[in-house]
Amino acid sequence: MTDFSLSKTYSPLSSAELIAKEKSMMDAARFEHCIGVSQTARKLAQLNGYDEDKAALAGFIHDYAKQVDNSEFEAVIKSENFDPDLLNWNRAIWHGIVGVYFIERDLKITDPEILQAIRRHTTADTEMTTLDKIVFVADFIEPGRSFPGVEEARKVSFANLDQGVAYELSHTLEFLIAKRARIYPKTIAAYNVWAAE
Ligand code: GDP
Ligand code: FE
Ligand code: FE
Repeated sequence: MTDFSLSKTYSPLSSAELIAKEKSMMDAARFEHCIGVSQTARKLAQLNGYDEDKAALAGFIHDYAKQVDNSEFEAVIKSENFDPDLLNWNRAIWHGIVGVYFIERDLKITDPEILQAIRRHTTADTEMTTLDKIVFVADFIEPGRSFPGVEEARKVSFANLDQGVAYELSHTLEFLIAKRARIYPKTIAAYNVWAAE
């Protein structure tokens, strides 16, 4: 991690403070993933004419709540009046949508575009801003990812961000269906908008 820093934090916290908080929330492998997503988000922002520092920050914090306990997610869903249907899902779905609560509380980030991109980073959505797409795709193709198809995903995504979103949605759905996982309705709706012919 040595020389990683954030040019802008969108928060009263300094870059060093924000990085220290992020690190305290997760193990070393997850922290490395977050740095990878940040660097890839910066690159995708550059390729797509988006604010690189903002993309780098959103990518860095996207999994801030990834290792929060289930019981804590459930308590927050109830106390903060999140959609009670979320209780029928699991931490794979919660860490983005509900994770934003922890980001606002601990990192003092209020920028609505950043928070929305984090909310959407796992499931995508029928409407996606450029930042939403950047974080969604960077999460899938960061240098630490190794799954069959990741090289193709990188090629497609660096050439065309929308095609990267389509590729990721169809591959994630194939993966989830192959293991008979329940599909979050937003993921299907997003697939129909961004990936289906
Ligand atoms: P990560 O946090 O960096 O591991 O990546 P993501 O936030 O994109 O995904 C977290 C997990 O959620 C992955 O295992 C995905 O396959 C899974 N996931 C994504 N969409 C859905 C869905 O609709 N339903 C279920 N059950 N899991 C999903
Ligand atoms: Fe995630
Ligand atoms: Fe991630």
